[in-house]
Amino acid sequence: MNGRFVRLLAAMALVASPVSAQPSADWPIHSNDRPKPAVVSPGKSALPVPPPAGAIILFGGGDLSKWEQVRGDTLRWVARDDYFEVQPGSGDLRTRDSFGDAEVHIEWMSPSPARGADQNRGNSGLYLMSTYELQILDSYENPTYADGQAGAIYGQFPPLVNASRPPGEWQSYDVVFRGPRFDSSGNLLRPATMTVRHNGVLVQDNVTLSGPTGHYARPPYKAHAEKLPILLQDHGHRVRFRNIWLKELK
Ligand code: MG
Repeated sequence: MNGRFVRLLAAMALVASPVSAQPSADWPIHSNDRPKPAVVSPGKSALPVPPPAGAIILFGGGDLSKWEQVRGDTLRWVARDDYFEVQPGSGDLRTRDSFGDAEVHIEWMSPSPARGADQNRGNSGLYLMSTYELQILDSYENPTYADGQAGAIYGQFPPLVNASRPPGEWQSYDVVFRGPRFDSSGNLLRPATMTVRHNGVLVQDNVTLSGPTGHYARPPYKAHAEKLPILLQDHGHRVRFRNIWLKELK
């Protein structure tokens, strides 16, 4: 198949794929006028969720051997027995291995008592392929712009609902992520898509990302490898993490 035909097929697949109920480009980025998702109770917690057979364990307690600081050689985030915590000011943490299409489970906790407001409260982020941020934020009784709250694809898609638990309680994300594909000339063949459950509640329904996420920026796709590290954001807040596992998708 030549490249032009591949791109034509990809374009047809885009047209034929189901239309998401979550528009993104219709709203200016970080608009405070964008409607806030309804608050829903996620129900009783069933955490931690045990990893299924065959899952790659990225953190099961104990040590951070699967992770490295993005900046510098010394591991500065702090691992306890069954969780680890952002070390503010140390920079982001990422996996040593690289991943592409994957199902990812992660549990996280906002600092308690809560301090700060808006984006300055329990902020971190799960970056698929170090590039596409699923926002982590204390969004329990803490209003912020809709495309920046917990469960948002940052700057693009607000969550369908706000299923946040209070600070000091463990929460979960279950993500189905498919990365973008590029041809050998760097043209986009297929954009990235994400489906997310927050505390078991669907908050992203197979949305198609417009490109990398950014603060007041929706940059276009730029060709990258099919696998890249998963990254956790240091936004200066002591967010905790535990029970992180992943299954690669074929
Ligand atoms: Mg963040």
